Order: sequence, then C-alpha cells, then structure tokens
Amino acid sequence: MSSWKTTAAAALVLTALTARHLAAQTDELRVLASNGVKAALEELVTAGEHATGHRLAIRFNSSTALNAIIEGGDPFDVVLVTSDLMDELVKGGRVKEGSRVAIAQAGIGVGVRTGAPKPDITSPEALKRALLQARAVTYAQDGASRVHVERMFERLGITSAMTPKTILEQGSIRSTARVAAGDAELVLTLISEILPIKGIELVGPLPAAFQHYVAFSVAVGTHARQPDAATALIQVLTSTLARDTLKAKGLDPPAAVAKGAGQKPLHLYVMDCGVLTPTTEAVERYHVTLAEVGETRMSVPCFLVVHPRGTLLWDLGVIPDEDVGAQPGGARSNVNPTVAAFVPRTLSSQLAQIGYGPPDITYFAISHAHIDHSANMNAFAGSTWLARAAEREFMWADGNTRVRPAFYSMLRNRAPLLINTDEYDVFGDGNVVIKSAPGHTPGHQVLVLNLAGTGRVMLSGDLYHYPQERALHRPPPDNEANVQQSAASRQVIEEYLRRTGTALWIEHDFAANTKLRKSPAYYD
Ligand SMILES: [Zn+2]
Repeated sequence: MSSWKTTAAAALVLTALTARHLAAQTDELRVLASNGVKAALEELVTAGEHATGHRLAIRFNSSTALNAIIEGGDPFDVVLVTSDLMDELVKGGRVKEGSRVAIAQAGIGVGVRTGAPKPDITSPEALKRALLQARAVTYAQDGASRVHVERMFERLGITSAMTPKTILEQGSIRSTARVAAGDAELVLTLISEILPIKGIELVGPLPAAFQHYVAFSVAVGTHARQPDAATALIQVLTSTLARDTLKAKGLDPPAAVAKGAGQKPLHLYVMDCGVLTPTTEAVERYHVTLAEVGETRMSVPCFLVVHPRGTLLWDLGVIPDEDVGAQPGGARSNVNPTVAAFVPRTLSSQLAQIGYGPPDITYFAISHAHIDHSANMNAFAGSTWLARAAEREFMWADGNTRVRPAFYSMLRNRAPLLINTDEYDVFGDGNVVIKSAPGHTPGHQVLVLNLAGTGRVMLSGDLYHYPQERALHRPPPDNEANVQQSAASRQVIEEYLRRTGTALWIEHDFAANTKLRKSPAYYD
C-alpha cells in the first residue's frame, strides 16, 4: 500500500515537472528587438520575466534584418524596433492595433578603440578634420543611422574621400568589433550601440547640426500567442525603472519632436472643453451651500503644454469630439442624473487652430478618469499615455459607474508609461511635473508647471471643485474614492504649494476660468 502510494506520488511529481517543462517552452515570450536597444533590454530581462511569468526568448538584429524575419513569417509576441520600421509593421498589419508605444530615442555618436586618442568632434569643422584624418571608419550598412551618416558626409563635402576608407558591416555589433580589433579607427552609430560594447569608447555625440535621433517603439504582434504577457512586458519596458536603465545605456526618453521644438520655451494653452451644471443636491455634495458658492457652474478646461522636448495634453473633456462635432451649436449630455454637461466646440478644432493634431502630441495624461476628464482619450491612443497603475485599474473596474470605458476603449490593451513615483518629471528638466494626489480616485494626480513668465502653477484636477471648499476648509465630498486619502492629499498639496510658491488653478472654478487667457493665446 505504502509502496503504491510512493509510486503514484512519484508519477504525479513527474507529470507535474514534465507539464511545467513543456509549459515553459510553449509559454516563452518571443521578442524581436533592434540591436540599438540590446544592452538595455538585456538588463531588463529579469524584471520582464518576473512581471510576465514567462521566459523571454529575445532575438536581436538590425532593423533591416528584423524586417526580413517578420516578412518571412516568423512568429513573435513583442517587437521593439525603430519607429520607422514600426510604421511599416503597423501598415502591414503585423502588430496589434493600438498596442504601439514609443519607448526611447538614441542619438548618433562616434566611438574609438578603448584607450585610443579621442579626436575633437564638437563642431562640424572639427568632425570633418577627424573623419578625413582617420585611416578607416566603419558603420552598419543596414543600421538605422546609415542614412544620416552618409547625408552628413555629403553636407561636409567629403563623400568621395570617405567612400574608399569606409568599412560597411552587417549590423552595428560587427562594426563596433572592427574598431575594437583595430581595423577601423572610428565607428559611427547610435550612442546606445557604442556604450555597451567592451573594447570601444564613446568619443561623443555628433554636433547638433548633424545629430539625428532614432526613435524606438514597442508593440504586440498581431498573432501573439501570449497577448496579455506581451502587454505586461511592454508595461515593464515603459516603467520608470526601465527609463533609468535605458538612459544609462544611451537611450533617452521618447520625445516626439514637437512643432517649434527647441525654439519655443515652455507654453501653456488653456482650451474650452465645456461647462457642467450641477443640481443643488450635487453642489451640496462638496459641503458648501448655494449661497456660499454663488456661481454653481463648473468649467471643464483641457490643457496643452508645449515644451521644447515635446507636448503634453492634460485632461480630455466631458463629451467626445465625435458627438460635439455632430451637433451644430454644441453638444449636451448628462454626466449623471445631477450634473448636466454642455460642450460648445471640439478639442480637436482648438488644437488645429494652433497647428496641432494628434500626431503632434507626445504625451497625454488625465488628472483622473472620471467622465468629465476623459472623453477624448481614444483620439490620442497613438501618443504616450502617462498613468498610474491604481487609476488604470479603477478605469476598468467592474461596476464603476463614475467612468465611461468607451471613452478610452482603445487604451484597453495599450501599455501606458507607468508612473510609480510621487512626482514624475515629464521632460526631464523639472518644469513639467505630474504629482500624485490620490483620494478623489485611486490614482488621482495634479500637474505642476514652472512657467518662465507666469511662474509656478498647479492644475488641480479635482483636488477641489469650488474655491470655497478650500477657503472655508470644508472636508472632501463623501463620495470620494477614499475620503481620508483625499483629505491627506489636500494637506500634502497645500504644504507643497506654500513651500514652493505655486499658484493653484482649480480646474472646475468657473469664475477663475472665465478670467484665464484662452487658446490661441497662451501662458509662458
Ligand atoms: Zn471633475
């Protein structure tokens, strides 16, 4: 009896082991990735495997070679390639619609053998001299930077001098190896392909006049075997942890070159996304009386932040543009039985008026997902979404009547750039910072701007609705996702405002909003 038990138990263990082994093989997540992100991605494997519960099987190659692999029908779950190649994959239906996320960008640099003298390449003239003096140079014949390197030779008037001493290699890994081996003195390729290679050192980036950034994006394969795990991996790759790893490997945060990039200083446009009319009952929910507030209506602004490194849309209205555009004279709808909304014109028409369309939007974020802040999220599904995990969960929570998931259906399978820190510095210079202020919703946040002329401004989200709540120190409404957390956030934010000398703009404050300068005028 006991021996039978032992045998049966052993058989069970064996079956389990075999099953697990098989699962490991069929469950592995197949990733195709550019050489340009190799060093960073290799460091993120553990985090990726941990988050997805799958082994990552990654194949690295040049964009051209990866394109051939994909065209040849090789299956994959996740693809991380240059944005140019991703455009092709999207057109060809090779990746899941809406799953694409910009992840990083890398500039082109020059590398030498470790220990070799580093030539001056800080100006076009100096770089020209260094290139002409080099015995041999190398770059990848199929690399993303080749076209920019050759265009630079042309502009410097040295194409005929460079051609006979250029070693073209398949892929940046072979090119950099030629420099490490001493066959060529200089390698020209993405900085992210120079930094991680043993035996070579970065001299520096190309001078600004010739610099070109190659952008990388990641997406889920159309025929992904593990779409959920693929999405989870993308979340890891767009997390703040990944951002630090990418940066250490020469990959900067994505920054779609916004209109006027590098020329305009920080700008803030205030757009009219409508007005809310609450009933008396709805007003009193904020622990203020009709007499105290006087004006019961609430403004619904949307904001466009234009930064030299990109753009950020903040809060996205109460009625989707499709519905507003279809109603001459504006659209009406009820947020709930106690709050009516009216939107006179579309957000897209206001953006178009100042020359912006969805492709010009680098990032979008909402203070929170309530109906009056999220209506137009679908329109910007192609931009990078900055969000907190708690809010994302809240957005699709069963039975949540405070949100309308149809407003952001296209984001369901899209990985946001997940913010997991109290403050998130959007463009890396401290002038546009998203700050956590939970309670109204689980992932509620506010936006802090440091404008050169206007000064420091905080866009409140729904930290308060009426200015009297703040002035009269009234407790948060009873229907907050978490009243205590909301009260604590108010305290933290008030202290922050005092300490930093920041003005609070209460987004729903109708009277204050009336006085704000509206787009096409702006704050700078
Ligand atoms: Zn609101």
